[in-house]
Amino acid sequence: MNFHMICSTWVNADDEKVLDVLRASEHWLSVEEIATKTGLSHAKIERTLKLLKQQMDMHESRKNFYNGALHQTKRKADTTMKKALIVYGGWEGHDPKGVADVFTELLEAENFEVTLSDTLDAFLGDLTQYNLIVPIWTMGELSWEAEQNVCKAVASGVGIAGCHGGMCDAFRTSTEWQFMTGSQWVAHPGGDTVTYKVYIKKSAASDIIADLEDFEVTSEQYYIHVDPAVNVLATTRFVLNNGSHISNGEVEVPVVYTKRWGKGKVFYNSLGHNHYIFDIPEAKELMRRGFLYAAK
Ligand SMILES: [Zn+2]
Repeated sequence: MNFHMICSTWVNADDEKVLDVLRASEHWLSVEEIATKTGLSHAKIERTLKLLKQQMDMHESRKNFYNGALHQTKRKADTTMKKALIVYGGWEGHDPKGVADVFTELLEAENFEVTLSDTLDAFLGDLTQYNLIVPIWTMGELSWEAEQNVCKAVASGVGIAGCHGGMCDAFRTSTEWQFMTGSQWVAHPGGDTVTYKVYIKKSAASDIIADLEDFEVTSEQYYIHVDPAVNVLATTRFVLNNGSHISNGEVEVPVVYTKRWGKGKVFYNSLGHNHYIFDIPEAKELMRRGFLYAAK
């Protein structure tokens, strides 16, 4: 069975045994069946199942809440289709296809006609025909011509929106790309199993974060070098458990921000190590609103 835990802070070793048995099974198992497979007491198994059910109910109600919000905020002017270009590829560890699928679904639900491309040559064509460019490409090399073409298209008004390394660890030698996108990833101390909070910066008073609450994530915590010009919408505080950076004390690093590049709008969300992160309703909703914000 395939299910994804939203919050793993309550999971102990015994819970993990129960979850592993359920994940390996084709169907839901009874307490007796789980007891046979794990050797755990019925009381322990019932505790895990109760917590699991609470998590799943919470997940469902948050999902329903944001789906409802989606219909309410749908813009009236959306009678004509907008065009989005998703360019995906690069380092496979970032699940570019999986993330591209999630973003395609989100954009199509918002009446975008989506063009998918798995080659950086897509950045050499006429980009001004699009309302929005969505890069999902980690650790690639962009030609000078392609870099100039994208930056000019955004400066002319085409929006750009993306996440994680797919936008801000995309092209390490392309400084104008970094100038335009507003940050460059430098580290994720603790790897991809760090549990941390994403703090919504309510004082930013942006529609992108309206009605959203702080939420918890277990994934890579992105330490990014950021353009001071960005408008920060959500942040994270770094877990001070390893690395030479801790001698600087606790720091707050942006997770979500917007900025401008010429006439174009830029949106970035540092969540997105793989597509599962968008099972968290807030993470997905931030992308949806970010796409709508950035699109021309
Ligand atoms: Zn990553």
